[in-house]
Amino acid sequence: MKILSIETSCDETSVAIVEDGRKILTNRIYSQIPIHQKYGGVVPEIASRNHVTKLPYIIDEALAETGLTLKDIDAIGVANGPGLVGALLIGLSAAKAMAYSLDIPLIGVHHIEGHIAANFLQFPELAPPFLTLVVSGGHSHLVLVKDYETFEVLGKTRDDAAGEAFDKVSRVLGLGYPGGPAIDKAAKNGNASAIPFPRAFLDKDRFDFSFSGLKSAVLNYLNGKKMKNEPIVVNDVAASFQTAVVDVLVAKTIACAKSINMKTICIAGGVSANSLLREKMTAAANDEGFTLYYPEPILCTDNAAMIGSMAYYNYVNRGESGLNLNAMPGLKIGTRS
Ligand code: ATP
Ligand code: MG
Ligand code: FE
Repeated sequence: MKILSIETSCDETSVAIVEDGRKILTNRIYSQIPIHQKYGGVVPEIASRNHVTKLPYIIDEALAETGLTLKDIDAIGVANGPGLVGALLIGLSAAKAMAYSLDIPLIGVHHIEGHIAANFLQFPELAPPFLTLVVSGGHSHLVLVKDYETFEVLGKTRDDAAGEAFDKVSRVLGLGYPGGPAIDKAAKNGNASAIPFPRAFLDKDRFDFSFSGLKSAVLNYLNGKKMKNEPIVVNDVAASFQTAVVDVLVAKTIACAKSINMKTICIAGGVSANSLLREKMTAAANDEGFTLYYPEPILCTDNAAMIGSMAYYNYVNRGESGLNLNAMPGLKIGTRS
């Protein structure tokens, strides 16, 4: 089954064609990052307008790259939430128009379940059940994937998402947007034990996260240095901050896996591209004898192939969505509304 999938939930305009949920035939990603960079973050209205102008071309590119025509497409998959409502509506409208005119199924996909499914594209042997740490611009969740349709949230952030913390700290350090890759790079030339930033472990036997205290600690540190007219070593701040985030993510994920006796772990979402997180999670998983999966970086951040993978499993298990499918900006993991 060949599914053409569309992802427009934030600032990537992406179209993919995925076969049977596992094989990427094409995954075209047009990133609007350069457009939003000068504003220091994503401007929703500008994101929507760029989706409108770019999406038709990217659909054409995806077909051209594979040599397929619309007649070869069996269904249309689309991320219908969570995300920016205006941005989601662009992809959803295009998906509906295509499904209706071609008379093929329309399949709505939860964007975060899509992030998790990115792992299915890369690892043919991976199948539920497994535990996933989803760390992205808007989410820091520990999700038990019981089967292809059942997602149970075991822990989540009580305030900022990990990606949000990376983006905010990057902005105050003058490293620009998006912050994750910039901090990852700066940290490589910094001393991770230069500044003892706090690690919020909260309750020992709960699996929730909190990153706003860490963010404030970085701000206070920088303000203190400025008041005293002392130099700030940006690379050291980046490295110390990144290590504080990663230490908590790794410790909580391993503790959660142990508590449910789960030996297979995935990481997903934009922050799972982080080199230190991959390194430390690999070491911790090896120590415990756990099997760890993470997608290549291009499949960690927003892309339509992950939506195409999840669309396949949604269709196989639940059938099509129907043309009254709506954009759901606040869609929760494991729910359909
Ligand atoms: P959500 O998926 O929660 O709706 P989103 O789609 O905006 O949010 P993603 O595209 O999954 O988020 O990921 C973007 C986030 O990932 C940004 O916050 C970015 O800074 C972060 N990120 C990307 N690469 C890295 C990296 N190498 N290290 C840390 N963070 C990273
Ligand atoms: Mg993005
Ligand atoms: Fe995302």
